[in-house]
Amino acid sequence: MPRILIIEDELAMRTALADILATEGHRVLVAQDGETGLERALAEKPDLMLLDIMLPRLDGFALCAELRRRGRLEPILMLTAKGQIEDRVTGLDAGADDYLVKPFSTDELLARVRALLRRTQRQAAATRELTMGEVQVDLARQRAWRRGKELHLTAKEFAMLRLLADAEGEPVSRERFLDVVWGYGAFPTTRTVDNHIASLRAKLEPNPEEPRWLKTVHGLGYRLERTV
Ligand code: CA
Repeated sequence: MPRILIIEDELAMRTALADILATEGHRVLVAQDGETGLERALAEKPDLMLLDIMLPRLDGFALCAELRRRGRLEPILMLTAKGQIEDRVTGLDAGADDYLVKPFSTDELLARVRALLRRTQRQAAATRELTMGEVQVDLARQRAWRRGKELHLTAKEFAMLRLLADAEGEPVSRERFLDVVWGYGAFPTTRTVDNHIASLRAKLEPNPEEPRWLKTVHGLGYRLERTV
């Protein structure tokens, strides 16, 4: 279920947007000023943001620019009451993905939201191919190669790689591996996760003793780190 953060100071507009999106089955988060919006965006990583321009404490342009400066790429649909061309240019320069001019119809809002979410899904699909040095992994088809020679990974190893790829650069805890890869019905121990990572390293890493990509995060779990 996509999570959409609405950052809008006008109560009536915020409520209307939240109702429309909730009715469409989205999970809605809200913020009523720019600073709170930035905090929520950083903490909750929404799939999409609706961002008003004129906001107390931090305006939409500054908020958008700050998120992009921090490397955050979630799609941003800016809401503007003016609809003036200079607003659009400023917003696009700040890193917004699209615009909606108030007043707008429900249909137009939903169409823009669908388009932006589709774009994100296409980008996510593109990351289904992982390259790590000489190793290539096709996560969707569950196949892997080293210099064209097929490597044999188990379904659980592919599932672990997918989880690491989804969180690339960030740690994945042993408990999260157990929940997602093994499921709640099974009763493996966190040691099981370590054994599978050791096996993945043996298959993928040039030197499994000093992993380049499948890094240990001490006291927590593992992280996929690709420098390229
Ligand atoms: Ca406003």
